[in-house]
Amino acid sequence: MTDKRVNGSAVVTSPQNTVEGFVKEFLRELSFGQGVTLERASVNDQYLALARTVRQYLMARWLETLQRQREAQAKSVAYLSAEYLLGRQLDNALLATDLTEVVEEGLASLGIELQTLRDQETEPGLGNGGLGRLAACFVDSLATMSVPCIGYGIRYDYGIFRQTFVDGWQVEQPDNWLALGAPWEFPHPEAAVTVHFGGRTETYDDEGVERTRWVHDWDVLGVPFNYMVPGYQNGRVNTLRLWSAKATQAFDLQIFNSGEYVDAVRAQTFAENISKVLYPEDSTPQGKELRLQQQYFFVACSIKDFVDYVLPEDFDLHRLPERIIFQLNDTHPVIAVPELMRVLVDEKKWDWDEAWAVTQQCFAYTCHTLLPEALEVWSVELMGRLLPRHLEIIYRINEEFLAEVAAKHPGDDALLERMSIIAERPERSVRMAYLATVAGSKVNGVAALHSDLLRDKVLPDFSAYWPDKFTNVTNGVTPRRFVRLSNPALSELITEAVGVGWVTDLERLRGMEPLADDQEFREKFRAVKAHNKERLSTLLQARDGITLPADAMLDVMVKRLHEYKRQTLKVLHIVTLYDRVLRGELDPATMQKRVFAFGAKAAPGYHMAKQIIGLINHVGATINDDPRLGGALTVVFPPNYNVTLAETLIPAADLSEQISLAGKEASGTGNMKFALNGALTIGTDDGANVEIRELVGDDNFFLFGLLEPQVADLVAAGYQPGRYYEEDPALKRAVDLIASGTFSGGDGSVFAPLVQNLLTEDRFLALADYRSYIDAQDRVDAAYADVEGWTRSAILNVARSGFFSSDRSMWDYIDRIWHTPPVVSR
Ligand SMILES: *Cc1c(COP(=O)(O)O)cnc(C)c1O
Repeated sequence: MTDKRVNGSAVVTSPQNTVEGFVKEFLRELSFGQGVTLERASVNDQYLALARTVRQYLMARWLETLQRQREAQAKSVAYLSAEYLLGRQLDNALLATDLTEVVEEGLASLGIELQTLRDQETEPGLGNGGLGRLAACFVDSLATMSVPCIGYGIRYDYGIFRQTFVDGWQVEQPDNWLALGAPWEFPHPEAAVTVHFGGRTETYDDEGVERTRWVHDWDVLGVPFNYMVPGYQNGRVNTLRLWSAKATQAFDLQIFNSGEYVDAVRAQTFAENISKVLYPEDSTPQGKELRLQQQYFFVACSIKDFVDYVLPEDFDLHRLPERIIFQLNDTHPVIAVPELMRVLVDEKKWDWDEAWAVTQQCFAYTCHTLLPEALEVWSVELMGRLLPRHLEIIYRINEEFLAEVAAKHPGDDALLERMSIIAERPERSVRMAYLATVAGSKVNGVAALHSDLLRDKVLPDFSAYWPDKFTNVTNGVTPRRFVRLSNPALSELITEAVGVGWVTDLERLRGMEPLADDQEFREKFRAVKAHNKERLSTLLQARDGITLPADAMLDVMVKRLHEYKRQTLKVLHIVTLYDRVLRGELDPATMQKRVFAFGAKAAPGYHMAKQIIGLINHVGATINDDPRLGGALTVVFPPNYNVTLAETLIPAADLSEQISLAGKEASGTGNMKFALNGALTIGTDDGANVEIRELVGDDNFFLFGLLEPQVADLVAAGYQPGRYYEEDPALKRAVDLIASGTFSGGDGSVFAPLVQNLLTEDRFLALADYRSYIDAQDRVDAAYADVEGWTRSAILNVARSGFFSSDRSMWDYIDRIWHTPPVVSR
């Protein structure tokens, strides 16, 4: 259903919101949808029928939301993101419709347990980590706030790989998330759009005006799959539209007519490869041709969709900025800029200047990184081959931009070279972040510190040139999924304390502050934590055969595996504690018991990250089995960290590890999820940690490590990790334990590359921050021993973290960038 086709008022009505109403529809879905009787239905049949039944309750609201938005001629956000890490859909849909109890009771009357069906759902892992999860939180918030939004992205056949461990080493398995059926999506092959690739450009005379046309070489169909994005109990349902690549008719005909049948079929596969698989690199773009195909594919589909189908037929595109803002989630969709220019100039036959004026108002860009290697560039050679017309347009954008800069700064050739969208070295390439900055009406970083560094370090010439273009919007997470759904026990306690309104107005958590001093409330809060730990323990036992010891502090580090995030520093802490016990400095009978829980996927080609995963598992295997520790330290690393696992892990955590090198983590959102669920943070002065610490207070946060300017100075002076190793005996012993093969059956060569890297390069200064980290961890142990004091701090973390709702992020985007008010009820 493309939006346009819903004419008149919505004709569907929701099934009755009663146990009987639900059971009737569920049984209908089982028989008419799945074609099975209740007696013969498998768990998967039951799950699919349930999903389709719940969908029915959302359908009328969906159609009505679209209708209302069309009537209001409201401005929409088009969120362009190559990734959406959605997590499971069923529970969120039940919450949005307030159907959980009705469904639980209705299923029970049929002898079915809701939890069994929940567990049947495979989460759509259409993202790598924080960036994709952010997109999912944002669309949730916009729906809940009744702000019109279409999320555009790619329906990958295979999402992020499923991680397994073999002898402690990561082995990737394909994520065939569609295998058992996809009940949440609505495919619309009839609304497919064609996307062109390759070929050349030529000029022609159009009644006295010279124009350019793109003579393409091959094409592919983009088939839209729509997903409902329900608001929280507000009757709104927005749309997420993910594109799937399909071979065009031309391929089919070719196959039919071709003597070379096999080759023709192979060509078809080639086209459909575009949406086959999500690239599993997180913040390290690989410059692969297929990746650029994916990027152009989904933005070309999305722009065509919005212009041709979402807008009314007779819409004057000069008024496009009144109806749309395309938000670029990192540089992955930036090719949308020359695409809109191509549509306006080549297809609609506008003048360049009027097209550029409109285009500049239609885009805004969010930067997500500070790592230079994460800034995406495409070689001119590749772009010219795949998208020749777009390359020409980029050249012209650059030419006119540099002419403007030159007029303001005559004679400053170095400035022109620095600001050019085209880099000349090491090869001629397009700097996508620069293109986004030149084209965007606004450029934002994702936490206060990050936005400052973005202005001062990443794009200094641009921020000097356009000071007003740069702004900050600190990231957030949806309290629906990451508190209300994932932590029912805490949710109940919060509601008791401050009423139900917190779910959509998270600042109300402030009302809990005084209760931090209430003994009885603290006891209840501890009971919630204990309950969540038990729930985690049950899950890990069933999922991975992992047994969690009772009465231990749960110390959690979950996030993508990357050297800048410094999982290695965490390992050095664990090894140091181990060494202290072996040397008799710590008594396992009296020391603070800890469970260290890790979750992390490494990009399959990122060898150092895979070494680190191997190290964590090998250290774990050694320590967990060593009787001299008497079970005081336990390392667990459940494989395949994803949203579903996060939802059980985070609510159980006591300590949140946010230990990236200062100046490297743009924001982090895991850090926010932990604080909201009552974990205390041990963290560096980095990303949104800075704002978390400011809000929760220094007494309720364990700060350690170099500050960003100190990092910059140390690196400028020539950082020598070997000196820290030589000068700190505890550090030396920890590194030596790893180097000597203590954790690898006596074979020191296993982790030699990692050790070598630490001692000679250590790009992210783990050794420089080691002492400060260890001292902070000792403070953590002391603080945890004060049960009442720790609980008080944990409650204050929850009470003071309302700022980190993605609803607040969305209000900030609306206020500073989008200017898209909610569409309120008639
Ligand atoms: C929140 C989240 C992330 C981001 O975690 P960071 O610690 O901010 O890097 C990554 N993966 C999943 C599954 C998440 O839920």
